[in-house]
Amino acid sequence: MELVEIVILAVVIALVAVGLVGGLVVGSRKKKLPPPPPSAPTITPPAEPQVGEEAETPRDEARRTIDEVGLPDATAPAEEAPVAEAPAPPALEVPEPTAGRLVRLRARLARSQNSLGKGLLTLLSRDNLDEDTWEEIEDTLLTADVGVAPTQELVERLRERVRVLGTRTPEDLRNLLREELITLLGPDFHREVKTEGGAETPGVVMVVGVNGTGKTTTTGKLARVLVADGRSVVLGAADTFRAAAADQLQTWGERVGARTVRGPEGGDPASIAYDAVKEGIAEGADVVLIDTAGRLHTKTGLMDELGKVKRVVEKHGPLDEILLVLDATTGQNGLVQARVFAEVVDITGIVLTKLDGTAKGGIVIAVQRELGVPVKLIGLGEGADDLAPFEPGAFVDALIGD
Ligand code: GDP
Repeated sequence: MELVEIVILAVVIALVAVGLVGGLVVGSRKKKLPPPPPSAPTITPPAEPQVGEEAETPRDEARRTIDEVGLPDATAPAEEAPVAEAPAPPALEVPEPTAGRLVRLRARLARSQNSLGKGLLTLLSRDNLDEDTWEEIEDTLLTADVGVAPTQELVERLRERVRVLGTRTPEDLRNLLREELITLLGPDFHREVKTEGGAETPGVVMVVGVNGTGKTTTTGKLARVLVADGRSVVLGAADTFRAAAADQLQTWGERVGARTVRGPEGGDPASIAYDAVKEGIAEGADVVLIDTAGRLHTKTGLMDELGKVKRVVEKHGPLDEILLVLDATTGQNGLVQARVFAEVVDITGIVLTKLDGTAKGGIVIAVQRELGVPVKLIGLGEGADDLAPFEPGAFVDALIGD
């Protein structure tokens, strides 16, 4: 081989080697790219340069800007400078008014409860209401989680009234069933969520329940309900047990302009709750909503923690409400949870979530019986405004149609 050929071969080998190393670097850079940012809805991270794209330096960008639009005007406002802009604050949402929400969500409720209402009406409409039919009526109620005692009461009253009625038109039966179900739901309960507070202090509502029942979501939805009613709200993220709970609550708050008071992960829930009320007083807020952690596996721990949160918050003034959040799809298990929480704190109202996902609406009746306190709100979906005040009449109408 001649010398010239050897030199050419050496150059070719060198070029191939450089190309390979370059490829490896690109490959390893690709591997080192940071994972995609978490999908936090309110913060838009600045765009990352893509592989293969030239990363633009600030100087390049400035030069391009000058080339394209000429020298910057010295009198132009500072924010027009071509530096990275802070993400715009999220636009505040206007929550849907609470009046008539149950009517809007009625179709959803009716769909999930179809078997209960329609089943009862069909059975009652049979020509011959024999023992078997009454047993079927009883089974329908029990299957819908109405509970043994309320079921027996209802069947007894229905039997009595059907007998008195004599001939039964479908209209008669519907009215009769409607009246009896409303009676069973306790039409005289006060179901408004109390948030008056004291002369100098905001209304304080503590939200308790087992994790996963929809407690944080409900706290967020309730904040929207209050904002829709013209109240100002501060949120207390005292569920320091579940890592994402504080972020989740804060996102709900930001959507409607409610500040969230939070502490370090695993921090003391009572001190966060205390600070939240303090912040509420300082801001002159109307209502403070406190989300708490619900770890049921250690009842003593739960009792200590919730009891302490309550006592510490009450240093500012009495609580207006302690709302227990129960997942309607958990049936009897939900009742067991209700019992445990009621031993720990004085529950003043129940929020029944996920009624859109179960045909067992009878749990409304059972849980009120169990605790002797009313269902005040019901959750009918994952949408931000899918929380409705509970109204027995509208609920029964959704069950049996009108
Ligand atoms: P927490 O652990 O009790 O605070 O539970 P979360 O508030 O995180 O809620 C758990 C899940 O239940 C979430 O996916 C919620 O969107 C969902 N959820 C809450 N309320 C409802 C409801 O009324 N209907 C339906 N379908 N889902 C709900």
